[in-house]
Amino acid sequence: MSAQAAKFKIQIRKGDQVKVMAGKSAGKTGRVLSVNPLKNTVIVEHAHIIKRHTRPNPNKNVKGGIVEKEGPINASNVMIVCSSCGKHTRIGHTVLADGKKVRSCRRCGTTLDK
Ligand SMILES: [Zn+2]
Repeated sequence: MSAQAAKFKIQIRKGDQVKVMAGKSAGKTGRVLSVNPLKNTVIVEHAHIIKRHTRPNPNKNVKGGIVEKEGPINASNVMIVCSSCGKHTRIGHTVLADGKKVRSCRRCGTTLDK
């Protein structure tokens, strides 16, 4: 038996356009850069900018100082933005004729997966 950490079910995927619903970046939209199912967080481009104090590391060619970068946002605080109706929406599921399950917009029904 291998101990496996519980994973959160995140319906947001890398590359999705999302809107931040809560926190200091509320109202911002951006592309999802990464998803962390173990922590239930996502990183959204240009949202929730945090300051990182870094030490110089010449081996990795990293300069010291303060670096501003995107911080993790709880996945429940972001909603996907539908490319068809242009609004943030809950994610529904549609089963296609070939049996494939895809994510869909709960507002207009458009498939969110390509
Ligand atoms: Zn829609």
